[in-house]
Formats: sequence, structure tokens, C-alpha cells
Amino acid sequence: MDFGWNEQQEMVRDMVRSFAEDRILPGAAERDRTGAFPAGILGEMGELGLLGMMVPEEYGGAGMDVLSYLLAVEELARADASIAVTMTVTNSVCCWPILQYGTEEQKRKYLTPLASGEVLGGFMLTEPQAGSDAAALRTRFVEDGDHWVLEGSKAWITNAGVAKYFVCLATEDPALKAQGISAFILDADQPGVVVNRPEEKMGLRSSKTAMVTLEGARVPRDAMLGAQGSGFRLALATLDHSRLGIAAQAVGIAQAALEESLRYARDRQQFGRPLYRHQGIAFRLAEMDTELAAARALLWSAAWESTRPGRHSRTSARAKLHASEMCNRIVAWAVQIHGGYGFSKEYTVERLYRDARVTTVYEGTSEVQKIVISRALREVAEGL
Ligand SMILES: Cc1cc2nc3c(=O)[nH]c(=O)nc-3n(C[C@H](O)[C@H](O)[C@H](O)COP(=O)(O)OP(=O)(O)OC[C@H]3O[C@@H](n4cnc5c(N)ncnc54)[C@H](O)[C@@H]3O)c2cc1C
Repeated sequence: MDFGWNEQQEMVRDMVRSFAEDRILPGAAERDRTGAFPAGILGEMGELGLLGMMVPEEYGGAGMDVLSYLLAVEELARADASIAVTMTVTNSVCCWPILQYGTEEQKRKYLTPLASGEVLGGFMLTEPQAGSDAAALRTRFVEDGDHWVLEGSKAWITNAGVAKYFVCLATEDPALKAQGISAFILDADQPGVVVNRPEEKMGLRSSKTAMVTLEGARVPRDAMLGAQGSGFRLALATLDHSRLGIAAQAVGIAQAALEESLRYARDRQQFGRPLYRHQGIAFRLAEMDTELAAARALLWSAAWESTRPGRHSRTSARAKLHASEMCNRIVAWAVQIHGGYGFSKEYTVERLYRDARVTTVYEGTSEVQKIVISRALREVAEGL
């Protein structure tokens, strides 16, 4: 395992950092206040190759490796976690499964516009009654001539209303549980896809999330992704990959919180000296720095693991669990270091505190990550 970055990884990190500081950070507080969707910035990100980072160049992508992608996500989240999630969803839960499981025609048809940023992507798994227990989903699909027809409700769909293509999971019969589930590439630009009012969220306020009702949504026969009945396995493998992106998002938010805290502790004086000269605060900053470095190391080792053959459920769950919990601890400490000012929208840590909260919830809650890890440990225990 080599954590020395190659030239490409270093170039990506520098490029995304300067883009995020120049183009994303200046408007982040205002977008958080208004909830305005940053379509223009996402257009520029498409031109920079950030919306199809791991898609090979032959399908219009940037053809980069997973660590370059994670470095880019961290830099985007350091500036604005809403933009980071819009980007990760397109890259990792839409482009990635199409790249892994799509036919040659599907890759050419769907990846090319997604990777160039011409259109955004998303993922429809969760339903009102099927969250952590995703195999309990009830959205049905039936055959209708040369199409599949989908009926049901999908909850909490990121990029609903702004994305065109979604990887959507549906079942031929809920009684079959996981075995009945198949994956489809759904074009949301059709009357059968009804996007409800955007959710009023605590954080990530300029990323769009909504309930989507499928009322006879039509999918061409050749837009089933993978074999019939393989959808649940495809969804789990997709989440194994995409959880790395959420861990990188958490690391980026925590990095911003640490930097804001250092700046504030340097400038704020109490009892005749800067806060960081009080050992209680200095030790807290040291803990934040250490926790962040540990989460980043766990993430990069999981990224390395993900390039090796086989499933990576345990390593990516560990990275996501640790990074998201660490992030929530760090943003809480950052608010504490800011005292009363940390409770004010005048200071960036207030936004970071709210944006961090969902990282322990989406793409599998912390409890679900522990289920994944403990299942793997049972196998380890049986082999001892
Ligand atoms: C902002 C946002 C964006 C999202 N984007 C998407 C998206 O693009 N696509 C998509 O498909 N989904 C998306 N989701 C949905 C997200 O993945 C789910 O919210 C998440 O998986 C949890 O499901 P739930 O909310 O139904 O909670 P539930 O599953 O009802 O869980 C409630 C609580 O019970 C706990 N719990 C549940 N089962 C167990 C158990 N067996 N043992 C111990 N504890 C348990 C959970 O950990 C949680 O604390 C998004 C959610 C949010 C908030």
C-alpha cells in the first residue's frame, strides 16, 4: 500500500482545491440560506471532468483512479458539502454501476452524457417503508411489450428534479424479497416520473432531495441493468463503492471545521491570550487533528482495498462508519471552540455542523455499517 500520490492525484487535488476556493466557497453560505441549486457551477465541474471521474475516456469520462476521485470529493466538501453530494451521487451510484454492470450499448448511451456533465445522475433505492431494510422495497415492475413499467414511491432521492438518469431498483414480487429485485436505468424526463416538493432539510440545503412517485414510468427493455433478479446484489456492491465517497465527504467537512477552529482559536483572545494558548483548547485541537488523520488513513486504505478483486463491504463500511462519526464529533467541537459565535450563521462552523449530520445516516446509517462489519466478523470468528 503506497500513500504517496502520483502526479495525476496531486494535480487533481490542486486543481479541485483551487476551483473549490475560487468558484464554490464564495457562494456556499448564500446557497445554504436560499437553497438555490448551483447549476452553473455543476456545468463548470462537468467541463473539468468531475462528473465522470472514473469513467474511461472512451465513454467521455476522465478515466481516473479511485484515490483521485476521493481527493476531489474531499476538496469539494471542504468548500460546500451540498455540491460534493450532488457530484458523488452522479459519479458513484449512477455512473459506477452502469460502468460495472452495463452492456456496451448502455455504457455508450448513458455514460457519455453523464460523464461530460451534460446531464446529472442519481440512485433510487429507498422507499417510504424500506430504508435500512432495502430488500423490503415494493416498487413493482412488469413487462409491457418492448418496455418495463414501474409503479411505486421512492423516498429521499438526491438529485430528483435536476438529474435525468437514475439507477432505479424495483421488484417483480415483494414476496421474493432480495431475489425479486432488478435494476433499471430510468430516464426521469417522462410523465410517469413525478418529482414531489423538495425536502426541507437541516443541511445540504442546496442539494436537491425529494420523494419521487413512479406512475407507470416506462423503461425500454434494453435498459435493465445486469440480469433480471440481480438488482439487490448490484445495489449492495454499488454502496460498497459509494460509501467511500461519503467517507471522503465527511473528511472534507471535518477538515474545514478544523481549519475554521484553528483560525478562530488564533484570533480570539480570552483571559489575555489567544484561545489556542489555553491548554484545554490546544489539546482539543490536537485530538481533532489526530482523529481526522486516522479517518483519512482508514479511507485511503479502504480505497486501495477496493482496487483488489472481490467484495469490499467490511473495509468500506469501516471507512464510512469511522469518518462520519469522526466528522460529527469534530464539527461539534468546532462549534464549542467558537463559543456563542459558533451558534451564529455568521460563522461557517454553523453550516458545517448541520451539513455533517446526515453523513451517519445516508448510504446506510452507522448502525447498518456495524451490521455489515459484524456480519463479516462472524465469518472471521467461525474460521478461528
Ligand atoms: C439527505 C438524504 C439524501 C438521501 N439520498 C438518497 C438517494 O439518493 N437514494 C436513495 O435511495 N436513498 C437516499 N437517502 C435515504 C437514506 O439512504 C436512508 O435515509 C437511510 O438508508 C436510512 O433509512 P431510513 O431513513 O428509512 O431509516 P430507518 O431504516 O427507518 O432507520 C431508523 C433508525 O433505526 C436504525 N435501524 C434500522 N434497522 C436497524 C437494525 N436492524 N439494527 C439497529 N438499528 C437499526 C437506523 O440505523 C436508524 O437509526 C437519502 C437520505 C437523506 C437524509
